[in-house]
Amino acid sequence: MKNVAIIGSGPAGYTAGIYAGRANLEPVLFEGLESGGQLMLTTDVENYPGFVDGIMGPELMQVFKGQAERFGTEIKTEIIDSIENIDGGFKLTSSKGEYEFKSVIIASGASARWLGVEGEKELQGYGVSACATCDGFFFKEKEVAVVGGGDSAMEEALFLTKFATKVYVIHRRDQFRASQIMQDRVLNHEKIEVIWNSTVEKIIGDGAVSSVVLKNTEDGSESELNLDGVFVAIGHDPNVEFLNNFVELDEKGYIKTGFTTDTSTSVPGVFAAGDVADSIYRQAITAAGTGCQAAIDSERWLDH
Ligand code: NAP
Repeated sequence: MKNVAIIGSGPAGYTAGIYAGRANLEPVLFEGLESGGQLMLTTDVENYPGFVDGIMGPELMQVFKGQAERFGTEIKTEIIDSIENIDGGFKLTSSKGEYEFKSVIIASGASARWLGVEGEKELQGYGVSACATCDGFFFKEKEVAVVGGGDSAMEEALFLTKFATKVYVIHRRDQFRASQIMQDRVLNHEKIEVIWNSTVEKIIGDGAVSSVVLKNTEDGSESELNLDGVFVAIGHDPNVEFLNNFVELDEKGYIKTGFTTDTSTSVPGVFAAGDVADSIYRQAITAAGTGCQAAIDSERWLDH
């Protein structure tokens, strides 16, 4: 039985790998089929400390991975399908095999919900984003739209007013679901215009977003709106399905932590780090921070 498994290959998973590796725990990290997590979907990362001139998201994750490997983290390109209790530890099952560990760090992240319309995938990182904090800076003096009517959409729209000359909020109904205070801020902001009862049918652009096709949900009419960026803010989903309720989740569906230590879950010996346990901050740096904590928590738990 090995010491510690790390499930996930975003900033939380790799940081856990670096710390657990340096603690001689010989961690095994299951990176999934695509390594790197959400930062693989972004271009320049300018708010990760240590890179004065910024760094591309995929490049940053390559650096994380290399550093984890340098300290002996074994990386497996496999998706974990299930986790169960066994005597003295946990059994993880992937399509390639079964593995036994004394301790597990879950860092499987969250996935932004996407609209699933034409042009969206092709233009991700080229004007289509799901993170204003990450990418808003690139829209100085530009016109952008935020899609959604919840608190995230309000927050993204307000944040984008710092850069953009005009921010449209495109919502499919005639009222927001967001909290009143956030709605009021958006509705009273001079740079923000709300486009009610509308869905984005298509995102158009050749190498960069140039417009969107909108459909009015009341009369079905279509129109084109010229834009430089589209921020999709229709929610995130924590990647917890494979856990099948093995650990307790909070009311929003994220892993509940803080039982005995910051990253402890409801199951002793299982820790959670990064966006899978964080519906609030969702930053690479906070994920890396909790990844470090989870590795230290796991090391102490193995010593107990
Ligand atoms: P959310 O509350 O689930 O809102 C998602 C929004 O996206 C809804 O307005 C929904 O429309 C819309 N939507 C969903 N699928 C869509 C689709 N396919 N096409 C077009 N629109 C779609 O998600 P969230 O805003 O990310 O918030 C998640 C949780 O975090 C909430 O509990 C929220 O309060 C909290 N949060 C709080 C803050 C804060 O307090 N500062 C900030 C961010 C998030 P409908 O309204 O028509 O369903």
